[in-house]
Amino acid sequence: MRIHGCTAVNARVCNGAERQMTHLRARPSISNCYMTEEYQIRVLPQVGCDEENIKAYIAREKGLDARTIKQVRVLKRSIDARHRDIYVNLTVRAYINEYPQDEAYVRTEYPDVSGKPQVIVVGEGPGGLFASLRLIELGYRPVVLERGKDVRERKKDMALITKTQEVNPESNYCFGEGGAGAFSDGKLYTRSKKRGPTEKVLNVFCQHGASAGILSDAHPHIGTDKLPRVIENMRNTILKSGGEVHFQTKMTAILLEGNKVAGVRAEDMSVRPYGTKEFRGPVILATGHSARDVYRYLAGAGIEMEPKGIAVGVRLEHPAELIDQIQYHSKNGRGKYLPTAEYSFVTQVEGRGVYSFCMCPGGFVIPSATGPEQTVTNGMSPANRGTKWSNAGMVVQLNPEDVEGDGLLRIMDYQERLERDTWQQGNRRQTAPAQRMADFVNGRLSYDLPKSSYAPGLISSPLHFWMPPFVAKRLQEAFKTFGRHAHGFLTNEAVMIASETRTSSPVRILRDRTTLMHVRLQGLFPCGEGAGYAGGIVSAGVDGERCAEMAAEYCSGISLS
Ligand SMILES: Cc1cc2nc3c(=O)[nH]c(=O)nc-3n(C[C@H](O)[C@H](O)[C@H](O)COP(=O)(O)OP(=O)(O)OC[C@H]3O[C@@H](n4cnc5c(N)ncnc54)[C@H](O)[C@@H]3O)c2cc1C
Repeated sequence: MRIHGCTAVNARVCNGAERQMTHLRARPSISNCYMTEEYQIRVLPQVGCDEENIKAYIAREKGLDARTIKQVRVLKRSIDARHRDIYVNLTVRAYINEYPQDEAYVRTEYPDVSGKPQVIVVGEGPGGLFASLRLIELGYRPVVLERGKDVRERKKDMALITKTQEVNPESNYCFGEGGAGAFSDGKLYTRSKKRGPTEKVLNVFCQHGASAGILSDAHPHIGTDKLPRVIENMRNTILKSGGEVHFQTKMTAILLEGNKVAGVRAEDMSVRPYGTKEFRGPVILATGHSARDVYRYLAGAGIEMEPKGIAVGVRLEHPAELIDQIQYHSKNGRGKYLPTAEYSFVTQVEGRGVYSFCMCPGGFVIPSATGPEQTVTNGMSPANRGTKWSNAGMVVQLNPEDVEGDGLLRIMDYQERLERDTWQQGNRRQTAPAQRMADFVNGRLSYDLPKSSYAPGLISSPLHFWMPPFVAKRLQEAFKTFGRHAHGFLTNEAVMIASETRTSSPVRILRDRTTLMHVRLQGLFPCGEGAGYAGGIVSAGVDGERCAEMAAEYCSGISLS
């Protein structure tokens, strides 16, 4: 085995009487010292995947008795797969002759907020959940309204999509407790650090049941099989602290007193006929990128927004083994010790970005429409990323000027048209039109299709022919580029499944950069992805926290009923 550098990166910390020893002697005898020490190590995958092997490695490298290393905690983990020999880079804290005194994550205290001033949180996705929890921390009572069902009931409606080919417009892969990210890969990394620190969000996830591994992994993910329990635990924290959560309760209007938001009107869909309810207080609006009725309502009510670019394209699915072989440069794939391989591609074609989006190694392609007459794809993976397939969105940047007209909602209308065309090409069911990747690039219909994880089924279709040329031509060129960079990636073993359209919000609801309040309406805090200020689970969570802080500041200056 090749041994790589093993360096202590901070000073040793000895405790009690032993601490004096460090001062007195140049190098204390570690065998009778209680201390922690941090190392950066670069090891083979079989060493990096197992705590005992890491201990043995450090002991050997530092000349320690392995029995004195009581525990190791991995603080950072990343895989270096750039070359044929693959290494795992770790930052490790070793506990010598002692055990950790603290939990692996930082715990947040949630006080009882019963009877405290209330803030209305519309939407229980990551934006709404993190906003609610932060409100509690700050001494305010969140009242959460969610149009969908609780996360367990929601699962049943998603299963029905495959069974009946029908989508419940209130309970689906985008709507319901946990929001769009509840049934996903649960990737928890964000390219954007500018929206605020992400560590808090990760720690809150751990406190509610996510593995502490998400704090150390360079590309953390939770997995669709583990996320629902974490989300339920977060909801229970809200309820135990005195907050409220109303399922099947859809906001239909914002109540205004002049330019001040007094609350919202909502439809109670848990009873028949539906009832109407009013909830009073400032409003954090975190309704996600798929609530088209909300955008239409806001546009109709003259609430200031601006069009925003999105990206559209397809889901591309390869055999996971093939991606492993390509990424790990080995015909044996990932072997026993490496995770299912990820990839990320980006290029420019005719002035627009074309890139992979929301990659799901070892996952499923899923039907994520939110209404009738739409076919929309997305992806999710279980925690072990263990299916036979790896998929990613392959999308082309679409700017407001790329779409005809000057309407505020023109990008949303474009999305809707493409989703409806896709549904029509798929025989007016949730069966998705699909084409083998090399056939698409060569402009040929696929005579058959490979096996796929997409449960409602695929139907062979000439995507190169009917998808908008703006998208199809750029994807064809980009795939050739990606195939040149990753030998074997451009292949007929891969299938393109149409259409990927819900990549982000088609508008931005305008808010003040400092107060995060709507530019005109006092007491309205547009939040998360739907408002145009986040692009994933973590960034939506961070934005939720910030909106809660600003809502609390606003409340401290006004008296609420
Ligand atoms: C299948 C899938 C997989 C994904 N995978 C990942 C991933 O691995 N990693 C990642 O970072 N991101 C992923 N994303 C994106 C991520 O889920 C979103 O960025 C994130 O959920 C946005 O959070 P949000 O709270 O702003 O909005 P959402 O999560 O969309 O939540 C909005 C909530 O508001 C509710 N709502 C809407 N309208 C109303 C109304 N009128 N009244 C009451 N409630 C309403 C909705 O039901 C929903 O629950 C995925 C998305 C999908 C669809």
